[in-house]
Amino acid sequence: MIEDGVWHGPIVDQHIHLDRSNRFLDAVSDFARSGGTGLILVHKPAFSKALPIDINGYREAYSETISMAQEIRDSMNLDVGVALGPHPVSWEKQIHTLGIKESSELHLEAVGLALDLIQSGEANCLGEVGRPHYSVSDEIWETANSLLSEVLSMAASSKSPVQLHVEDNGEQTCRELSQICRESGLPPDHAVRHFAPADVSSEFTHGLSATVNVGSGTVGVLCETASSSNAPWGMESDFLDDPARPGAVLGPKTVPKRTKELCSSLLSKGWAESKVEDLLLNIHERWPKSIYGI
Ligand SMILES: [Zn+2]
Repeated sequence: MIEDGVWHGPIVDQHIHLDRSNRFLDAVSDFARSGGTGLILVHKPAFSKALPIDINGYREAYSETISMAQEIRDSMNLDVGVALGPHPVSWEKQIHTLGIKESSELHLEAVGLALDLIQSGEANCLGEVGRPHYSVSDEIWETANSLLSEVLSMAASSKSPVQLHVEDNGEQTCRELSQICRESGLPPDHAVRHFAPADVSSEFTHGLSATVNVGSGTVGVLCETASSSNAPWGMESDFLDDPARPGAVLGPKTVPKRTKELCSSLLSKGWAESKVEDLLLNIHERWPKSIYGI
């Protein structure tokens, strides 16, 4: 899989959003042409349009994500998994229109529906769910945390993996989240901190698995911390496919590019080819297969 120092194996982007009205298949073919072999298509909330206000609205929105995934499978030779779930930012926004009780009820119903679709094999992961990444009132924060515990217990009962959208408060975020996961009975390798920083050491992750948002400068940190990691980790772009926010996140070619960069950096630091191969297969094949089944 490594030939002349170059990685030719699988490459999975574990968190990518696509939009039919924007680049959609064109973005996916950029990914595939750069070496990408699989992706998890994450439900994109319609923040700029209208968020679902009832469970039928969620049903429609989820089926759109599922049909986009099928279209990618039909037109390209890629492994495609689907993550469905109500975004914590949607919940927070709707507190101010629906009220905290109705917004929370809708949130849990939308989690239930996503878990049903995962159970029936139409989707592979619950996500992104979590808590707001910006500061909110104490009341909202407390409700967000108890709601999250409930969501994770539901995921644990149905044995679904979860992609977590959370604030970035360094290792404290990981520490708190791995605690909530343990209390909810969710195995830590099934709880994936999305948009994670590149520090994958056990002191930082506290056993919580992660998809590192592989911006520039992340490969150096991954090289330094990869040997001291005790939890699975993968890579993501969090591409938004949103023309209104260019540069807000990474492009679809980024995960293939960083994977190749990581491969050559580790080799240049003296890692044996077989050890690099093993690491990259864990990232891009074994772990994704074991949690999402793709
Ligand atoms: Zn996302």
